[in-house]
Amino acid sequence: MADGIRLVMLGRQGAGKGTQCAQLARRYGIPHISTGDMLRAAVKAGTDIGARAKGYMDRGELIPDDVMIDVVDEQLDDPGVAGGGFILDGFPRTVRQAEALAGIVAPLGGLTAVVDLDVPVPVVLERLASRRVCVDCGANYSTDAPPADPWNCDACGGRVVQRADDTPEAIQRRLDLYEAETAPLVAWYADKGLLEIVDGLGTAEEVTARLVVVVDARTESP
Ligand code: AMP
Repeated sequence: MADGIRLVMLGRQGAGKGTQCAQLARRYGIPHISTGDMLRAAVKAGTDIGARAKGYMDRGELIPDDVMIDVVDEQLDDPGVAGGGFILDGFPRTVRQAEALAGIVAPLGGLTAVVDLDVPVPVVLERLASRRVCVDCGANYSTDAPPADPWNCDACGGRVVQRADDTPEAIQRRLDLYEAETAPLVAWYADKGLLEIVDGLGTAEEVTARLVVVVDARTESP
């Protein structure tokens, strides 16, 4: 098992981050930490954070930085998680979050790499319209590739639905916010020598293979 790989996955909504992070997490034996999945679980469980987050999420807006930084800091505070490596999906989404993350991972030796999973807007729009997710485990499906039983997840049997924020208005809002707040992180991380741009078009298997090449190259000893 590769130890101590600390990855961040950037990419537009619908680029396939969730699917690819799950593959990489399995391959490298590291936890997949998705802030979106954590927030959806918090909404479902009716926690304080969930109650605060729900309105923002349904409108396709970003949860305030302070709240998100606390959530991730707490998650990575567990030495078992942070020390063994992780893949972050959906965080950071603003330069402020990226700065906070840099502080959190500095004692561990910083990030291994930041991947920008690149998929053009017209393609993500198509993918988001057909996206379906499991309410329990977050597994992703599409209307073109549904689970064997269309309403129940192949992995855990949970209900498979369209996400509340995959409406046309919320999708547009999220993509606008991605360009305004998150896309600047591509240059920010390139500047730090951490960025890898990976083409997110093609089958899930093809994209995973490209990602593995990039991550392996970053983690091979010189
Ligand atoms: P995702 O599943 O990554 O698309 O996230 C779903 C929603 O959760 C987003 O549209 C935001 O409302 C919220 N969210 C997730 N991660 C963050 C973050 N790092 N900063 C702010 N809001 C977030």
